[in-house]
Amino acid sequence: MTIRILPSEVASQIAAGEVVERPASVVKELLENAIDAGASYIAIEVEGAGKRRIQVSDDGQGIPPDELRLAVERHATSKLNDANDLFQIVTLGFRGEALASIASVSRMTITSRPPDEDLGARIRVDGGIAEAVEPSGVPEGTLVQVEDLFYNVPARMKFLKTDTTERRQIDALATRYALAYPHVRFHLYQDGKPALQTSGRGDRREVLGALYGPDIARQMLEVVSSSGDVRVQGFITPISVTRSNRREILFFVNGRPVQDTALTAAVLKGYHTLLMVGRYPLAVLFLELDPEKIDVNVHPTKAEVRFREQDTVFTAVQSAIRRALLAHTPVPELHRDQLRWSPPEQRETPAKSWELPPAEAPREESEENEAPAERLPTLGTPLLRLVGQIAASYLVAEGPDGLYLIDQHAAHERVLFERFLEQKGVGVPSQSLLQPATVELPVTQARMLEEQLPLLNSLGFQVEHFGRSTFLVRSVPTLLIRMEPADALRTLVEDFEEDETPLKSKTEERIIARVCKRAAVKAGKTLSTEEQQALLRDLEACRSPRTCPHGRPTMIHLSVDLLERQFGRRGAH
Ligand code: ADP
Ligand code: MG
Repeated sequence: MTIRILPSEVASQIAAGEVVERPASVVKELLENAIDAGASYIAIEVEGAGKRRIQVSDDGQGIPPDELRLAVERHATSKLNDANDLFQIVTLGFRGEALASIASVSRMTITSRPPDEDLGARIRVDGGIAEAVEPSGVPEGTLVQVEDLFYNVPARMKFLKTDTTERRQIDALATRYALAYPHVRFHLYQDGKPALQTSGRGDRREVLGALYGPDIARQMLEVVSSSGDVRVQGFITPISVTRSNRREILFFVNGRPVQDTALTAAVLKGYHTLLMVGRYPLAVLFLELDPEKIDVNVHPTKAEVRFREQDTVFTAVQSAIRRALLAHTPVPELHRDQLRWSPPEQRETPAKSWELPPAEAPREESEENEAPAERLPTLGTPLLRLVGQIAASYLVAEGPDGLYLIDQHAAHERVLFERFLEQKGVGVPSQSLLQPATVELPVTQARMLEEQLPLLNSLGFQVEHFGRSTFLVRSVPTLLIRMEPADALRTLVEDFEEDETPLKSKTEERIIARVCKRAAVKAGKTLSTEEQQALLRDLEACRSPRTCPHGRPTMIHLSVDLLERQFGRRGAH
């Protein structure tokens, strides 16, 4: 093939692909434009998960009629003059690419009127082809309508997720901007139904409530700290509120949502040793620093930044977190359940003298979401004779081949998990509540729960959607009867994964594993001899008794042989 310059439509579709990946990217760019225009009210209307229509209106400074045509050109921006400005960026936009990109993969109409103009104007661009600008009598501000997204790039359509997921992404995105700009009033409607409403009164906790639900919002600790040139503000959860993944650690740098694994690491360092392995806090942190000290021109979607003085920034974040935690929790709570686990690399290494069961090493739970039961060989457990309980957390037992230490929580988790799976085949016994429990959830979680209702109902729950984001729990699986029903439901939802596992059975197992974790007897609980014995018997009967459903060991084995060597009775000492 000979070398040719690409036709301009192809070139602009390629460029558009970098900026407009999915409906939520359109919402992001339009929101940023409205914020840059100084809007105090932004309304977003979405239809058909954003594929049919996305509409953003604002009361900002508008676009003069004679600049409308230019606004939809590539590399046309009012926010940057020369290359030096690139290192002084105070607006969210600066690349002059968004409107052109969106217009090249949709049918877009912009209607706008600056406050000092009597008449506004409208322009329509269809698949990148602009029609003439027409005068239009409109209110002050700007209205951008984007219809039939990706109608001319069917390949891109195929990469979109289900409508529920795309909607959720839009919810999450709008909520994040609402958090970052609490003085702007945001309204988001999806298919005519309100999904987010903020007052614009400047109250971030109000928005936190929409994001995480009122309970968590209330508990979140405030971070206020400034060290040198870096200001760190925001909210973090106390160590009692955690998730199984780090996706809820959010950053905004100078008002811009940013992904940065190193900043996440700095937060986790701030929590160092306070959280269990595999548990992560929720955090929303706003960093402010001199625009000269960051490079925002790193990524087409502006989702990453580079810091000129990385270490200073990370140290500032870490110490801000640490300070907030110490200020709010002066004495670490001695909840057994939260006692820390040192990460494997920091553990002393009695490796040679301790025989771990031949299952795999402890792993971070749920990030990989494997179906644990199948992964493990069925090893069986020798019949065990109970010796007793130590530290109100471990059972000591003797087997034909030495000593076994059993983690009561992990073991019980395993027992419940297998019972659940067994019952699933024949119908999970469930228990009706005398009084149905009402649970109110934040919108995003409500969406996820709604999607999973049929599944939950097949697992012995009877949960009904009751109004916008309220649910009624009518019955719960008998296995969970000791749990507070609303709590049982919340546990399920709080860790619902963003991704869509195509295998329904995996989702199911994950859900079951999560419920069992919550329902299992905790470390720190003294058990009667009968209870200890019952737990041992139940564990022996399990198909994969040696690990909990999340892959951590339930037992440690010290063989007689090993004991003899340790005591110098035998072997090379
Ligand atoms: P950028 O935001 O990077 O400048 P865009 O393509 O998003 O590029 O927008 C191009 C220009 O159109 C902006 O620089 C701004 O002048 C104008 N514009 C876009 N949206 C709005 C809006 N909602 N209100 C006022 N002006 C806008
Ligand atoms: Mg822009």
